[in-house]
Amino acid sequence: MPEPINWPAAVDETVRNLARLIQIDTTNPPGNELPAILAIRELLVASGFPERDITIIEAGANRANLVARLRGSGAARPLLLTGHVDVVPAEREHWSHDPFGGEVAEGCIWGRGALDMKGTAAMYLEAFLLAFRQELPLKRDLILAAIADEEMGFDAGSKLLVDHYRDLIAAEYALNESGGTTVPMGGVRLYPIQVAEKGVCWLRMTAHGTAGHGSMPREDNAVGRLAQALGRLQRAAHLPVHVTPTVRTMLAALSAQLSFPARALVGLLGSPAVASLALGALHGQARSLFTALLTNSVSPTVLAAGSKTNVIPAQASADLDCRLLPGQTPENAMREILAITGPGITLEPLQTTEGAEFPTDTPLYHLLERATRRMDPSGLVVPLLSPGASDAAEYRRAGITVYGFAPGIMPPGFPILELAHGHDERLPLAALETGLPALWEVVSEFCL
Ligand SMILES: [Zn+2]
Repeated sequence: MPEPINWPAAVDETVRNLARLIQIDTTNPPGNELPAILAIRELLVASGFPERDITIIEAGANRANLVARLRGSGAARPLLLTGHVDVVPAEREHWSHDPFGGEVAEGCIWGRGALDMKGTAAMYLEAFLLAFRQELPLKRDLILAAIADEEMGFDAGSKLLVDHYRDLIAAEYALNESGGTTVPMGGVRLYPIQVAEKGVCWLRMTAHGTAGHGSMPREDNAVGRLAQALGRLQRAAHLPVHVTPTVRTMLAALSAQLSFPARALVGLLGSPAVASLALGALHGQARSLFTALLTNSVSPTVLAAGSKTNVIPAQASADLDCRLLPGQTPENAMREILAITGPGITLEPLQTTEGAEFPTDTPLYHLLERATRRMDPSGLVVPLLSPGASDAAEYRRAGITVYGFAPGIMPPGFPILELAHGHDERLPLAALETGLPALWEVVSEFCL
C-alpha cells in the first residue's frame, strides 16, 4: 500500500524545480536547452531514479532532449508526458520581476516559461517522481520527455525524436501543454483541453508588373497590384468558414451555458451558412479568436518591393502568415486566398505543417474531463482547437494521440491569456496546489 501523498511537500518541490528551470535561460533562438536538460537528469538521479532509464539526445551545440522511462508491466501501451523547456525571448525592462529569477512573490512564481511551459514540465516531472517513489504497479510505461526547440519549429526537438528516435517516445497517448486551466468567458469558468491544433502555411504573395522609370506612371505597377490584392483580403475580413468537429463540440458545450443573446450568437457560429454573418457581429478579441477557430486564417506580415524611389520594380511581395484548420491543405488555403485577391497574383508556400485533430471519445479524454470537473465542479470543460502550433502535430506523425493538460484553478481575474509569451509571465501557486493532484489523478488512474 503506497504512502498517502504529502501534497504541500510535492507542491514545494515543484516550485523549487520550476524556479531552477526558469533560472536557466533557454531563450530560443538559440535555445541552449542542454543545462536545463542536465538539471532535470540531476533531479531524477538525486531522487534515486536509475540513470540507465534516462536517455539524453544531443541536438546540436548546447542543445539536447531528455527521455526517461518508468517501466510498467506492458499490459497497455505507454503514456508520454512531454514538456518543452525552451522559451520565447523576454524584454527585461517591461518586467516587474527578473524574467530569469524564478522569484516567488504575490502568490506566484515569476519568470519566462512559468506558464509556457516550464511550469507544466515541472508538474510532469513531479508526477513522474511521485509514480517512481510510490512504486506503483503500472500497467503501462510512463515516459517523461523534456524537449528542445518547440518555439522555433521543432527541428532540434519533437521532430528530431519522431524522425530518428521514435522507439524512445512511442506511446499510445501523450499529455502536452494547453489544457485544464481556468479561462474566464462570459461569466463561465472554462477549462479548454487542447485536442486539436492548426497547421502552419506561410506563403509569399507576389505581384508582377513592368519595370520602368518612376516619372512615367504605369497601370501595371507591381506595388499597386500587390496593395490592391492585400486591400481585398483586408476587406473580406476572413477566408471561408469550416466548422471542424472539435469546434462544433466546443460551441455546443459553450452555448448550453450561456444566456441570450450570447447563446444565439455562439449557435450561429457553428453553422457554416451563417457563421460569416455571426463573425461580423463580433468585435475585438472575440472576433480574432473565432476567426482563428473557424477559418484558414491569413495575416500579412512582411512587405518587400523596390529599392529606389525613382525606379518602378518589376515585382512586389508580401509574406502571409496563414494557418490551416485540421484537415485543410495548403492548396485549399491558396485557392481561397486567390478567390479573394483576383488574378495577377502568385502564391508560393514558404513553410507548411499539417494541423492535428484528435478524437474526444477516448478513455483518456474522458478521464481528463472527469479530473478537471473534480478539481473545479462548477467549471465547464470544452475541447480546444489551438490556433498556434505545438509539438502535438509532430507526435501525431508517430501515431500518438495528444491532449493538452496543464491543470490548475487560476485566481479570479488572473490574465492568463496575456501572460504566455507576454510580460510578467507567472504561475499562481494556487494553480499548482489544485492542478498537481488533478494531474496525479489522471496519471495514476490511467497507468494502474
Ligand atoms: Zn509552449
